[in-house]
Amino acid sequence: MKLTFLGTGTSQGVPVIACDCEVCQSVDFHDKRLRSSVHIEVDGLSLVIDTGPDFRQQMLRERIKRLDAVIFTHEHKDHTAGLDDIRSFNFLQQMDMPVYASTAVITQLKREFSYIFADHKYPGVPLVDVKLLDGKPFTIGQTTITPINVMHFKLPVFGFRIGDFTYITDANYISDEEKKKIKGSKVLVLNALQKTPHISHFTLDEAISLAQELKADQTYFTHISHKLGSHRDVSAQLPENIYLAYDGQQLTL
Ligand SMILES: [Zn+2]
Ligand SMILES: [Zn+2]
Ligand SMILES: [Zn+2]
Repeated sequence: MKLTFLGTGTSQGVPVIACDCEVCQSVDFHDKRLRSSVHIEVDGLSLVIDTGPDFRQQMLRERIKRLDAVIFTHEHKDHTAGLDDIRSFNFLQQMDMPVYASTAVITQLKREFSYIFADHKYPGVPLVDVKLLDGKPFTIGQTTITPINVMHFKLPVFGFRIGDFTYITDANYISDEEKKKIKGSKVLVLNALQKTPHISHFTLDEAISLAQELKADQTYFTHISHKLGSHRDVSAQLPENIYLAYDGQQLTL
């Protein structure tokens, strides 16, 4: 399995528009964070988790030439806004794009992308093949994917486990029951927004505690705000086997 972090930034991305802070002014490429998403190559499949506003740029940067499915974590705009750009893959692959999503996400997509779901579609609109996620493990080709129910303040969000890899973005609570599904992962991705408390995201300290509890071989933090600090400064303070992810980072497992 090969993972590529397409984006590791929070909803506004880093740098933030019109922000003069040290992180937003940094020239270090590690401090340039597009909206959070990950690309997974597994068993010959090419998958993305979420299509945020930077989806087009991410597909171009990573030269992704084929996409077999989109899997959504939740309905927030920073995870869905780029769906229109799957059109390129529709044209190239001559197929409707399988889109795996919960009822809540599907409802939101129908509202925000009403033209995709219209009875009489304008020529050239994105074509999707919606697959309902009910929280049970599902398969794409030969690959089994296990949804993990996490909470993002009051909003239910799906994390996903694929083999030894678990991806959890946009959470600030995971029940003991759901933690069991994560245990034994070799690579775990968790959100770590900033150092100060936040209503719907783990802080850096909360993410570190959780990483130490879940004991993956390696844990990477994503969905990072400019308020967290620079990649270099924060990375230097992290415990062993815990890292800040950065855009374009690839992992093989
Ligand atoms: Zn988000
Ligand atoms: Zn800033
Ligand atoms: Zn969110």
